[in-house]
Amino acid sequence: MLIDKLDQYFQREERSWPRDYFYVSEVGKCPRQIYYAIKGFPRPPLDGLTARKLAVGDDAHRRLVQALYGMGIVVAAEAPIPPGNLFHGRCDVIVSLDGKNYVVEIKTAHPYSFDQMTSGPRRDHYLQLQLYLHYFGIPQGIVLAENKATQELREFVVPLDKEEVSRVIHAFERLQRTIFVEGRLPPLPGQEEKRDWEYDQCRYCPYVPFCNEDAADPPGRAAAEEPEPVRTAADEERAVPPTLFDDPS
Ligand code: SF4
Repeated sequence: MLIDKLDQYFQREERSWPRDYFYVSEVGKCPRQIYYAIKGFPRPPLDGLTARKLAVGDDAHRRLVQALYGMGIVVAAEAPIPPGNLFHGRCDVIVSLDGKNYVVEIKTAHPYSFDQMTSGPRRDHYLQLQLYLHYFGIPQGIVLAENKATQELREFVVPLDKEEVSRVIHAFERLQRTIFVEGRLPPLPGQEEKRDWEYDQCRYCPYVPFCNEDAADPPGRAAAEEPEPVRTAADEERAVPPTLFDDPS
């Protein structure tokens, strides 16, 4: 009786806006998925169950940040990357411990995924944190992971890895040329991109029908038509909405 109504209440359309930059959260994602998101290709609405799972992650995030504030160690929260960079994004929180600043990336994980994190964080989480360390000029950070089922915590302290940062930035500069300068659909991902994949992204991809046809223009919009305006700095003030792909578990 209530479940159907709750599912309807939580389900929502996944809106996207054409833009001319990347999000930090897109590191490790399929370049084609990034292209389709950037170009505003339509995707199925978010179902109620997935939306509720995302809300649980948001709640955990708020709870942990609130605790860090209570401990009096927060230097900044939701701090945006300086403007004018290849990437846009806001780090979760920066804390000060024993005289050193740390960027903290908070993640909630499905128990299976949590159990996999024994010797190190998930690769995409690691790379996201690396970009924040680079853009904020902070030499160390922490991936703080919470088990969604048990609330067990795990932390991974990582130093800035300049080599990885340089590799990621070069890869996204190439993608920037492909998408924004040449206006081309990126080729199907090869081994280099898949090295950063933590799971089979095609399985959770909402753009499969477009990808199968190598579609380069959103349906109903001819290539020659005027493109929609890209998102502006004012739009960027809005929080980045979580998407279906933020939590494939
Ligand atoms: S179907 Fe696979 S290769 Fe194609 S856009 Fe989606 S994730 Fe990328």
